[in-house]
Amino acid sequence: MNAPLIDPFARAIRYLRVSVTDRCDFRCVYCMSENMTFLPKKELLTLEELDRMCSAFVRLGVEKLRITGGEPLVRRDIMTFFRSMSRHLDSGALKELTLTTNGSQLARFADDLYAAGVRRVNVSLDTLDEAKFARVTRWGRLPQVLRGIDAAQKAGLRVKLNAVALKDFNEDELFTLTSWCASRDIDLTFIEVMPMGDIGNEDRIGQYWSLKDLRAQLADRYTVTDLPESTGGPARYVRLEETGQKIGFITPLSHNFCESCNRVRITCTGEIYTCLGQEGHSDLRGPLRSSESDAVLEDAIRAAIALKPKGHDFDYSRQEVDGQVSRHMSHTGG
Ligand code: SAM
Ligand code: SF4
Repeated sequence: MNAPLIDPFARAIRYLRVSVTDRCDFRCVYCMSENMTFLPKKELLTLEELDRMCSAFVRLGVEKLRITGGEPLVRRDIMTFFRSMSRHLDSGALKELTLTTNGSQLARFADDLYAAGVRRVNVSLDTLDEAKFARVTRWGRLPQVLRGIDAAQKAGLRVKLNAVALKDFNEDELFTLTSWCASRDIDLTFIEVMPMGDIGNEDRIGQYWSLKDLRAQLADRYTVTDLPESTGGPARYVRLEETGQKIGFITPLSHNFCESCNRVRITCTGEIYTCLGQEGHSDLRGPLRSSESDAVLEDAIRAAIALKPKGHDFDYSRQEVDGQVSRHMSHTGG
């Protein structure tokens, strides 16, 4: 049995997020610029390499694997990878295989995902208004995503909605989104917009809607009870007593959540980022490709975990963007 991965702050690493592509069929305004340059395909880990990489982490104690991107479901043949990962669910080593998606391809893949052992999916959706959806995603179409969500629920997947809280954009939809999710038995989590990557002419501070304010608005209409549960991740949860639904808050800006962080991220080119909000990273593709044995890779993983920083430095408190990181969220995988 391999010794588990423990970082310098005694946090056990149990959760891996893997970006399988930097490409996407949307161009969300807070995530990408309209004219993104994507990586040449040869830079990407092949599906076989992704398998080796994830399997190494599973051997080292990772119990939860989230596939993300870019849009993971636009990567060619990605179902082969999901099916292959399901062997770790069957063995019991992996407790959860899941993904974050914009939902555009879910109608096509929901049944296959369920068959591969996926039971929950996070769908990113910031608005239920068709025109606003087209505006915020630039290239997306809301009905396609709604069909995807229907298909996912029909396939038996538990759906969680992730909505980025955007000032002057979806503030007026707080209650619409909340009741829509309640009526469909969908969990809902709000995310504060983070300063990641050049997004063209968009204004970061202008986009920022603090979840403290959002929560206060919820409390005007509902009885909001804090829930003690934590997934080891950044989300904190409340229950709305009137509807019984659970609402999550991911608040990198207004509350620093790093003390319980149990996760690391791999980019589609095989870099490991041990903190979403820092530039520091290490290359794992070199060690992976340098040897057919996984010993070199495992050593490189341990060395990278030994460098996991204490936390991020995002800060808007001085009304300017501090702690910005240069890469886009689609590079590291949200
Ligand atoms: N394409 C998939 C999707 O949209 O769900 C997966 C990748 S996307 C980068 C993952 C998550 O990151 C999405 O929920 C998206 O809203 C969020 N995201 C992207 N850029 C962000 C930013 N600057 N601040 C906060 N969340 C962001
Ligand atoms: Fe694509 Fe997801 Fe980024 Fe939107 S948030 S551009 S869907 S990767």
